[in-house]
Amino acid sequence: MKRSTPTVRVGSVALGGGEPVRVQSMTNTDTADAAATARQVAGLARAGSEIVRITVNSEAAARAVPEIRMRLEDEGLDVPLVGDFHFNGHLLLARYPEMARTLDKYRINPGTVGAKAKAADNFRTMVEAAIEHGKPVRIGGNWGSLDQALLAEIMDANARRPQPKTAHEVLLETLVVSVQRSAELAEEIGLARDRIVLSAKVSAPADLWVVYRELAKSPYALHLGLTEAGMGDRGVVFSTAAVTPLLAEGIGDTLRVSLTPVPGEPRTREVEVAKEILQAVGVRRFAPSVSACPGCGRTTSSFFQELAQEVSRYLALKMDAWRTRYPGVEELKVAVMGCVVNGPGESKHADVGISLPGSGEAPRAPVYVDGELYTTLSGEGIPERFVQILEDYVER
Ligand code: SF4
Repeated sequence: MKRSTPTVRVGSVALGGGEPVRVQSMTNTDTADAAATARQVAGLARAGSEIVRITVNSEAAARAVPEIRMRLEDEGLDVPLVGDFHFNGHLLLARYPEMARTLDKYRINPGTVGAKAKAADNFRTMVEAAIEHGKPVRIGGNWGSLDQALLAEIMDANARRPQPKTAHEVLLETLVVSVQRSAELAEEIGLARDRIVLSAKVSAPADLWVVYRELAKSPYALHLGLTEAGMGDRGVVFSTAAVTPLLAEGIGDTLRVSLTPVPGEPRTREVEVAKEILQAVGVRRFAPSVSACPGCGRTTSSFFQELAQEVSRYLALKMDAWRTRYPGVEELKVAVMGCVVNGPGESKHADVGISLPGSGEAPRAPVYVDGELYTTLSGEGIPERFVQILEDYVER
């Protein structure tokens, strides 16, 4: 069961409370280039990112934010925009009120709000801007940019403990304490609890479990994600391993999968992976699921893999139209199986399933609908006839 938190409104989207875990992503364009950034935000939003973060690191970036919003509105998109601030956020928020009003949430990193003497004042300035403009804040720590003064304080305290923690454990503790103290300070300044989201990102899955189980004891909504997960398969596997146990425990109100883009890979990949993770854990449903067996020596051709691929492609094409016409179609389960060993059983567990003939089996493909044998296909045109059965089923 999802852990209970206040509901936080981020522009047109709500997170925390009884809301579904939200998919989030971040652009990698130069925010000062409003056209390129708006284009990338639009692509991410269309791929399913419900909230998009953009870096606001300079005066030029701050000036571009209203234009980015305008360009998105021209395309009919009202995806919430989060401004990512480091080092100079207090200055930019004060100097560019239109940018401050346009953004839907501010991300503040307690480790990068400024030098020790100024950090508290800078943090206060940013929180006051959030209060003035009615915006929520994500207090987002990252173990790559820890508050060094706090680290020194906790290291001193640790040295006096009867059983001191390891240096690594102290780092994780500092990260958690840093965001928790900042959240308490934000509340003292006057920011309501339903305007606060916390995150504390690390780059090893086991560390993420430690940090988030601790953060989950606080009353705030949580943004979940593994930082610097890496490239390609490594990034996907590490992110999945990191967030899955937490999501299964009900921890996490918004998710970002941070993938280092492989050249040529679309930025939207991180959105697709986040959606797949949420669907696999069973906390969201975005699209019908197609299960297929891996195939083995009992299959003599790649026919069943091709059919599984064709069915997936067909469903992806249909989803936009189906989603509005047939609410709940995301729940559909389809099975495409390679032989009689697990084929009929797995097909019966699906809403619609087909068991193709393996080597040495009679050239017949029984189709199951709602667990019952519906028909048996053979001869030419099995893919087209199976897809038609699927379409009829959805329409019914
Ligand atoms: Fe092999 Fe048949 Fe199992 Fe598929 S269902 S993996 S073809 S034994």
